[in-house]
Amino acid sequence: MSDSAPAPALESRGVLLGMDLPRLTEIVASAGYPAFRARQLYHWLYNRAAFDFSEMHNIARDFRTWLAGNYAMGHLEIAGVRESTDGTRKILFRLSDGIIVEGVLMRERNWLTQCVSSQAGCAAGCAFCTTGYDGFHRQMTTAEIISQILLAKRVFNDGFCPRNIVFMGMGEPMLNLDNVIPALRILSDPDGMAIAARRITVSTAGILPGIERLARENLNVNIAISLNAPDNDLRNRIMPINKAHPIGSLISACREYPLRRRRRITFEYVMLGGFNDSLEHARKLAALLLGLPCKINLIPWNPDGRLPFRRPSDDTVNQFQQFLHDRHFIASIRYSKGLDIGAACGQLAGGAAARARERLDKEPRGRR
Ligand code: SAH
Ligand code: SF4
Repeated sequence: MSDSAPAPALESRGVLLGMDLPRLTEIVASAGYPAFRARQLYHWLYNRAAFDFSEMHNIARDFRTWLAGNYAMGHLEIAGVRESTDGTRKILFRLSDGIIVEGVLMRERNWLTQCVSSQAGCAAGCAFCTTGYDGFHRQMTTAEIISQILLAKRVFNDGFCPRNIVFMGMGEPMLNLDNVIPALRILSDPDGMAIAARRITVSTAGILPGIERLARENLNVNIAISLNAPDNDLRNRIMPINKAHPIGSLISACREYPLRRRRRITFEYVMLGGFNDSLEHARKLAALLLGLPCKINLIPWNPDGRLPFRRPSDDTVNQFQQFLHDRHFIASIRYSKGLDIGAACGQLAGGAAARARERLDKEPRGRR
């Protein structure tokens, strides 16, 4: 092993989080250590959610010293936390270049669901979405994606991973699959973060090549499609992406998606008052999804004063749901959690707005 080689400057150290076992094995071997050290390291990184090399007590001290000299763990910093009256927490994560991304931890009956970000910002520009309004900053790395969950496990959930993970935070995961797919592998690996694939959902505005690629990867995670309109005319007006991937081909790709037994594709339908919330829209939606194993999530629009929409009345939402129930669809109304702290669906902004809010929310801070 290369004890005598000078350690690289701190800022040029590689990042360990995000590396799979073969990659860890390579770097361990290149330094002259036995391969079983890589397995130990993998366990500490992902299963034990270590923050610091000093925690890895069953790993020889000289190896830990070599690791610390050559690699950073790569965790994000927790820049702030807001807690809603309903127990939902919005967490601001600071990336190494100072950009802030947001994530949400929601308390369900007796477990946590974590909503994670996959990009800093989003380029898709959906007209009703705060993240889209604020634009795209950059892709998140695999390390940055999984650190959100490892930090939640350590800081907010007594060492347990949140039970469900939804990629419904900032960004379009299907436009960052090079980093999202390795993250999904580590998340669902029983020797890694051990979160059951059936409890992981990747949500997309409908990027067809992404849906097809995810299907080929055989990861068995769930997909959710942000449909939001039952025809091309309406969808083009709120989701620019629909021009590249129109509804017909999107639904065909969903019909061909390899679903395990008893699994369903989720269709999210943000209800915009006076725009897509009439019974005629419900009828078209039912016709479009007929025969597809699916469930429909109706999400009454969460307001953002800068955007030209309104939330429909509860009556309108209930009638829309009833129409779908009458036609034997599973349709639930998702009353977003964390509305009072800007953590509800589509309210995650990051960027400048989050940086300003961050000054108000200093504690607690995560460790590297
Ligand atoms: N880019 C991915 C994942 C993040 S968006 C996608 O679009 O699926 C997660 C969900 O929030 C999407 O279903 C989107 O339609 C919904 N959403 C966005 N803005 C919203 C708002 N203001 N109110 C309610 N839901 C919103
Ligand atoms: Fe991006 Fe999804 Fe928001 Fe559309 S709804 S702008 S794809 S985050």
